[in-house]
Formats: sequence, structure tokens, C-alpha cells
Amino acid sequence: MSALNVLAVVSEIFPLIKTGGLADVAGALPVALAAEGVSVRTLVPGYPPVLRALEGGVVVATEHMFGGEARIVAAKAAGLELFVIDAPHLYAREGDPYRAPDGSDWGDNAFRFAALSRVALLLAQGLVDGYRPDVVHAHDWQAGLAPAYLYYAGGMTPSVMTLHNLAFQGQYPAYLLGALGLPGDSYTVNGVEYYGAIGYLKAGLQFADRITTVSPTYAAEIRTLAGGMGLDGLLRARADVLSGIINGIDTTVWDPANDSYLPSDRAANKAALQERLGLRPDPGSLLFGVVSRFSVQKGVDLILAALPALISAGAQLALLGSGDASLEAALRAAAGPDIGVQIGYDESLAHLIQGGCDALLVPSRFEPCGLTQLCAMRYGALPVVAHVGGLCDTVIDANEMALAEGIGTGFHFSPVTSEMLAATILRVDAVWRQPEIWRQLQRNAMQTDVSWRRPAARYAALYRELANGSYGGSNGTMGTGELAVRSAPS
Ligand code: ADP
Repeated sequence: MSALNVLAVVSEIFPLIKTGGLADVAGALPVALAAEGVSVRTLVPGYPPVLRALEGGVVVATEHMFGGEARIVAAKAAGLELFVIDAPHLYAREGDPYRAPDGSDWGDNAFRFAALSRVALLLAQGLVDGYRPDVVHAHDWQAGLAPAYLYYAGGMTPSVMTLHNLAFQGQYPAYLLGALGLPGDSYTVNGVEYYGAIGYLKAGLQFADRITTVSPTYAAEIRTLAGGMGLDGLLRARADVLSGIINGIDTTVWDPANDSYLPSDRAANKAALQERLGLRPDPGSLLFGVVSRFSVQKGVDLILAALPALISAGAQLALLGSGDASLEAALRAAAGPDIGVQIGYDESLAHLIQGGCDALLVPSRFEPCGLTQLCAMRYGALPVVAHVGGLCDTVIDANEMALAEGIGTGFHFSPVTSEMLAATILRVDAVWRQPEIWRQLQRNAMQTDVSWRRPAARYAALYRELANGSYGGSNGTMGTGELAVRSAPS
């Protein structure tokens, strides 16, 4: 099988810059795809930490882009093959890639991420001698204009749009249309228009040849009014090209047998975690962990409401995360000998929680895939998850039948309310008091293949299908656009 060239287009990539699971996926998938005969180059913005991480690097092109010079640099970093857009007027800002220090979105995000997609188009058109991708793979709204640019340029390269979270959509004023290099007639319901604005994610979903999201259940949920966040009509219309591929985790980064952040075995890790968060040093308390962004999505408020039940069960909580200021304040106020709280982003503590807690709480109201429950399973912490999205697809509930058959890997709860979370904490506690059964569940969880092996094979198959022209034509003759227009909502 000949090697296939894929250009991944993404706004964050682990270990160079990360705000969430998107970066984990972007950093790990290329390595897994190499084993499938797929060669991935990833196009990323040249934020300061990205530029600092580059090893070598060659300027392969220079373009004038949205008010300044953009140098396209081909380089390696952390084992990844990259194209980096070195455009100081757009990206030379420290900190969060999307927000200013005051928490508001950067005012020029429309251009910062249009540039990402624009360079993807130029690369597909042969900007760099000897490089032409067979497929362009755009991730989330930041890369959403890439399929649209490709379409309006003639649709010569097939594209995949992957949705990691429908809650972030990227909408910008209609008057930017010309400045963004989009044709006047693109501002229609079958084009980039979305509720009176230019929708970046909408554009990607409209024009990509294939749409994937990160679990089969989320792929179904987003086609419903309740789960579609305004895009369910379009996603229903394009259901024939929409599929769900579960994420994996990087099993070299998350390797309990070889994790420099962990002192030793589970008992020692638990003691270290209790000490680090100022918890009562009690090996006999059921210790729950949380590693999460604090947002309505993640259900951190449900944990707060369930704390009395957790405490009265004699359990403890080790919680790491940041986000919503009112949740941060409420958690700080709740901290005590049985509730350990650290606000912030901390890789080492994230590993210690996974290696030291007995069970990990993931009470998300919606969850496209979720990665922390996969890490937990690999580390022998049993995930306690809301019965939504990718959490459904990755954790097997230890219900009566599963326990009888010895097949559970964690616990589900539904409806996603604090009462049900509290009741489930008691259910977990009852199982925890049966060490033989608990150990069996841990073994099941740890033996589950949470690597990228299976997902990478599915992405590779998808790319090959597209590269072979089975997406409805190629070279712009009958391709991407006609497919998209045909299946657009009326
Ligand atoms: P998200 O919706 O935030 O992307 P995921 O579960 O898909 O959720 O991915 C979250 C990733 O970010 C995981 O790798 C998790 O370990 C990490 N993470 C989240 N919060 C923190 C934190 N405060 N410190 C360290 N890592 C974190």
C-alpha cells in the first residue's frame, strides 16, 4: 500500500500547546497513523511556545496574510512533522491561544484562524515544492474554513472535518466575507452563512467530504434538536457522511508501568495524593478523583451538590481543574480534610490523581468523547461517568448483570443530576467494600485497549476511501461542493 499524505489542520497540539483533549488527539494521532502507512503533517499557528519547541525548521514560503507577513516553516518538534505559520501580527502572544489575559476572545480571532485555513488551502494547491496532501483533515471550528476554501478553489483535495466539541463554533460578522477571501455568493444557507454571521464550524460541516466526531453516541446525539446546538439540521442532512470514531490516548504518555510522576504502586500513589492535597491520610477511604475544565458542560456543579453524600459515605475527593470563576470559588470554600482542591493546570497532579484515586468522576452534561476516563481505566481507577456521548461508548457499567458476568469497567449514571450522582457514589461505595469484585473491575478496566490502534485504523480507512476518489469525484469535477450542496438543509 502506498503511503498516503494527510495534512492535519489544528489550533493546538500536545505537547507544544494544549487547552484540552483536542491537543491530545492532534499530538497522538499522527504517530498512530504512521503504523497504518499514513504520513501526517500538521499545520499549526506559530504561537510562542510552538516556535520555541521547533527543532531546526526551514522557511518554505512567505505570504502576505491579513495585514502582515506569514512565513510558513517546515519543522519537527517532539517527534511531530509540522508546518508552522510564523506570523507575529497574528500569533506572537503568550498564554491561552484563544483568549486575552482578561479572559475575552482575541479581537482578531476571525483572521488568526482564517489564516490557518488559508495556508491549508495554499499547501493543498502546491505552495511547497514536492508536497501535496492527498487529504486535508480539519479539526474543530478553528480549521472550519479549510473545507470551504478548498471547495471555492475547485475542490481539488478531499477533506475531513472532525468535531471535537460542538459547543465552540466560531461565528464572525458577515461584513468580513470579502476580507476573509470568501466569494460573495458563499453567504447563503448552503454556504458559510450561519444565523446571520459567518460560521466557521458550519462552513466546515457544510463543505467537508466527510464529517467525523469522536464517538458514535455523540454522532447520534448531535443530530437531535437537544444535542445539535443549532447545527442539528445540517448534521441530519449530512448524516450519510457523518460517523463517530472514538479517541484513544497516548499510551506512552499515560503508562502506569512507566510514569515518572508516580511514586510507586497504587497504595503509595494514594498516600502521596492525600498528602499533596492535604487530605486525611487514610488508605481505607474511597478516594474519588476529578481532572477537568470547570464548565457547565463538565458538571462540576453536580459534584459540589453531591459533596454531602460523598462525605457521609466516608469518601474523599481529590480535584484538579480550572475555569468558571464561581465554581473555582465554591470548590475552594468546600476544601477540607476530605475534599482536596487544586485550582490550575498541572500535568504532574493529573497523573497522580489518575494513579492514586480509586474512582474518577466524570459527570459531564454532554461529552463528545472524553479522555480522562480512558486514562483512569488504564491506571486502574474506575470511571464514574454520566451516561452521555463518548462516556457511554467507552465505559461498561458494572450493573448487576455485568457484575455477574465479570465484564464491567466503571459506573454510569443517568439522568445527569446531582441526586443521581449522589446515589451512584453510594453504589460505587458498596462495590468498593467488596475488594474481590473491585479488583476484577480494575483488571477489566486496565485490560481495555484505550490506545490509538483501532481508531487510527479507522481514520486510515476513511482517508484511503477519500484519496481513492470514492467521495463523489475528485479534481473539482463533481466533488465536494456538489455533494455538500446536495445534502444541505433547505
Ligand atoms: P476537554 O473537553 O477539556 O477537551 P477531555 O477529557 O477530552 O476534555 O480532555 C481533557 C484533557 O486535558 C485530558 O488530557 C486531561 O488530563 C487534561 N486536563 C484537563 N484539566 C487539566 C488540568 N487542570 N491539569 C492538567 N490536565 C488537565
